[in-house]
Amino acid sequence: MTTEATATQLGEHAVVLGGSLAGLAAAAVLAQRFERITIVERDGLPQSRQHRKGVPQGRHVHVLLPAGLQGLAELFPGVLEDLREQGAHVFDARALRFNIAGGSLLVEDADVESVAASRPLLEGIARERVRSLTNVRFAEARDACGLTTTPDRSRVTGVRLRSRTKPGAEQAVSADLVVDATGRGSRSPRWLAALGYPVPDEEQIHVGVHYTTRLFRRPPETAGDWRNVNADIPPGERRGAVALAVEGDRWIVTLVGILGERPPTDLDGFLEYARTLWTRDVHAVIADAEAIGEASTGAFPANVRRRYDRLRRFPGRYVVTGDAACSLNPVYAQGMSVAFGEALTLARVLDRHGLDRVGPRFFRQTKPITGAAWSMATGADLGHPGVDGPRTARWRLLNAYIRRLFSVAHRDPVVADAALKVLGMVNPPQHLMHPRIAWRVLRGGRQRGLPLPAAGEGHDVTGDAVCDDGAAVPDPSAR
Ligand SMILES: Cc1cc2nc3c(=O)[nH]c(=O)nc-3n(C[C@H](O)[C@H](O)[C@H](O)COP(=O)(O)OP(=O)(O)OC[C@H]3O[C@@H](n4cnc5c(N)ncnc54)[C@H](O)[C@@H]3O)c2cc1C
Repeated sequence: MTTEATATQLGEHAVVLGGSLAGLAAAAVLAQRFERITIVERDGLPQSRQHRKGVPQGRHVHVLLPAGLQGLAELFPGVLEDLREQGAHVFDARALRFNIAGGSLLVEDADVESVAASRPLLEGIARERVRSLTNVRFAEARDACGLTTTPDRSRVTGVRLRSRTKPGAEQAVSADLVVDATGRGSRSPRWLAALGYPVPDEEQIHVGVHYTTRLFRRPPETAGDWRNVNADIPPGERRGAVALAVEGDRWIVTLVGILGERPPTDLDGFLEYARTLWTRDVHAVIADAEAIGEASTGAFPANVRRRYDRLRRFPGRYVVTGDAACSLNPVYAQGMSVAFGEALTLARVLDRHGLDRVGPRFFRQTKPITGAAWSMATGADLGHPGVDGPRTARWRLLNAYIRRLFSVAHRDPVVADAALKVLGMVNPPQHLMHPRIAWRVLRGGRQRGLPLPAAGEGHDVTGDAVCDDGAAVPDPSAR
C-alpha cells in the first residue's frame, strides 16, 4: 500500500458506512491516514465465521480472483498465511476446470493465484485484520440515514445514524471524510438529491439471474486437484454453475439460471439441473457427494452502474465505493476485486491530493477498474440473445474475435493464459488484442497441429464485451 502520508496527516476522523468487504478495505487505507476511523454497520457483526443478514450473498460461491488476491495482500500484508492457516485454498490456474465456449481452457501456467473459501471466512479474516488496527472502531447495529454538511452544503461534515436496538434514537457523528460502502442499496443518490446535488445516471443491464446453492462434503479424492469447476452459460441457453472447494473439506456449488430460469432447491432437482448442463464436470463433483444442510437461493436482477464519474457537482469530503457505485453480475466474480482496487486507488488519491476534491478525483481514477469490470460483465451478458442492450457493430466484430479466441484457448495454453489473466482482472482487456495473442488466435492453434477452427465452430461460444476504450474482452460466465 502507498504510505507516503503519515497517520493523522489528513484529518482527525473518517467514517466508513458499511462493514462488508468494500468498507473494510476502505477502512484499512484510511486507518493510515486519519487519527481514528469509525465503521458504521447496520448488522451486529459475528465473532465467528457466520452468515449475516446484511450480506445475503455470503451463502453463495465467492471466489477471489487473482487481482483481488493481490489487492487483499497489499491491503493486509501476510493475509495469504491467514487464509491458508484457516483452510482457504489458494490455488493457481492449473486447479481450475474452466469450461467455457464448449470446451475447457488448456491451462499450463501457474503464475497467478486465486482463493477458494466461504464468504464468511474471507470477510471474517479481513474484519479481524481491521479490528486489530488500534484506531478503528466498529459502530454496529447502526443505520446510516443521512449526511450532515456545511451550511452552504458544499462539503459533507458527517453522518446521521439511527440505532437498530433503540428505536427513535438518532445521533450525528462528525467526520473529515465519509465513505459510502453500503452496497447495492446505497442511499447516496437520495441523499445527494436531498442536498440539492444532481444524482448520478444509473446504467442497468437486466439479466435476471437466480441462483441456488448447496454444500457438499468433499472427499479429497474427488475431482482430482480441482478447486474451481465451472460451466458457462452458452448463448441461447439459461443454465450454468460453479463448484468451489472451500474450507472444511466441502464443495460449495451454486447453480445459476438467467432470464428468469430458477434452479431448484430440492436435492434431486439440484442434481438433475447440474446433469443437464452442457459439461458434466459440475455434476461429476456432486453426483456421489454427501449433501450438507439446506439449499439457499437468491436473485440478481441487473448490473447497475451509477455514473458518479460524470457528475459536474459533488460535495467535498465524500466518496462512494464498492457495489454502491457499481454492482456486477456475480457470475463473473469481480465485485471483491473491484472493491479492493478502489480502496488502493483511494489511498493514492489521498496521498497525492489530500482531501481536495477527493470524490471526483476518486471516481475519475477508479473508472479504469469499474469500467473494465462493467464492460466485461455487461458485454458478456449481451452475448445472451435474451438480454436487452446495445449491440454495436464494433461489439459484433470483437465478439467474433473472442469467440475464436476461446476456441483456440481450448488447445493453446498461451492464449488460455492470456484469457485467464484478463478474466482474473490482472491484465486489462486490451491484452487480448496484443499482436502476440491476435496472431495465435488468427492462426487458430495450428502450432499444435490442430485444425483451424471456423468462426462459431462447435458449441456456440459465449459473448464478449467492448470496453470503454474499445478493447474486447471475453465472456467469463461462471468463472
Ligand atoms: C450471489 C453473489 C455471489 C457473488 N460472488 C462473488 C465472487 O465470487 N467474487 C467476487 O469478487 N464477488 C462476488 N460477489 C460480489 C460481492 O459480494 C461484493 O462485490 C462484495 O461484497 C463487495 O460489496 P460491498 O462491500 O460494496 O457491499 P455489500 O457486500 O453488499 O455490503 C454492504 C454492507 O453495508 C451494510 N449496510 C447497508 N446499508 C447500510 C446502512 N444504511 N447503514 C449501515 N450499514 C449499511 C450492509 O449490512 C453490508 O454489511 C457476489 C455477489 C453475489 C450477489
